Amino acid sequence: MKSPPYPVTDDHIHIDPRNGRGLEAAKDFFRAGGTHLFLVSKPSWSLDVYPSSAEDYAQVFDETLRVAEHVRSIGLVVFPVLGVHPAEISRLAERMPLAQAAELMKAGLGCAAGYVREGKAVALKSGRPHYEVSPELLAASNGVLMHALVLAAECSCALQIHAESGPCMDVVEMAGTARIPVERVVKHYATPDTPLHPSLIARHEALPRLIREHRRFTMESDFMDENSRPGAVIGPRSVPRFTNQLVASGQMTADDCFFVHADTVAKVYGVTVQLG
Ligand SMILES: [Zn+2]
Repeated sequence: MKSPPYPVTDDHIHIDPRNGRGLEAAKDFFRAGGTHLFLVSKPSWSLDVYPSSAEDYAQVFDETLRVAEHVRSIGLVVFPVLGVHPAEISRLAERMPLAQAAELMKAGLGCAAGYVREGKAVALKSGRPHYEVSPELLAASNGVLMHALVLAAECSCALQIHAESGPCMDVVEMAGTARIPVERVVKHYATPDTPLHPSLIARHEALPRLIREHRRFTMESDFMDENSRPGAVIGPRSVPRFTNQLVASGQMTADDCFFVHADTVAKVYGVTVQLG
């Protein structure tokens, strides 16, 4: 098969053979021109895992790595991202005291960091609830996020964060305390006003402007791969589809594609993005 003229990287996608289309969704991405993807672990509950120890999170991570291996077999380059979904705190706190819930999430992140050290994953994922929560729950979540920043700094890897919409200005100071460069803290579902590294949804209206300004950003589908929520997000083809549209309309050159989908990805995550 002829290699595509430029790389196309999805910075945040889930592939879930249990609850969604699985490999068929990955093939859609591939056929639309996708070349590389950051495969993010799903929340534990979506795999029917209800953690009470760090080892329980290993089941979720091992599943992500199994899926990654299958997706590689169709010719895609897969970079696994492992972590604990910030909304887990609400679910765990129903079963245990809040402090214990936060400790368990930190332990889960510690387990994920082990996979990064072994070279099985390239980055961690954490954050804080994107919905309204009590001050106690927010404080506990910030503690978990701080722990994730420290772990990412120790592993010299990037951290994807899922948080409230908006810039997340306070995370800059947290990153400084943890000694991780803000360029390696990736705001998932970002708005362009964030001082963190923005991973923008593929259809974001600001893309043509950011490309003209030569700003660093990455593109994501945030495809959930859940048959029960088909309309919840845009599909697995969205990053290649919107990239190809921008190229066709003259708003993105092949050089811009290499800048966004290879150079920036390499700079943020410390991975190599090559074609063919
Ligand atoms: Zn996600």
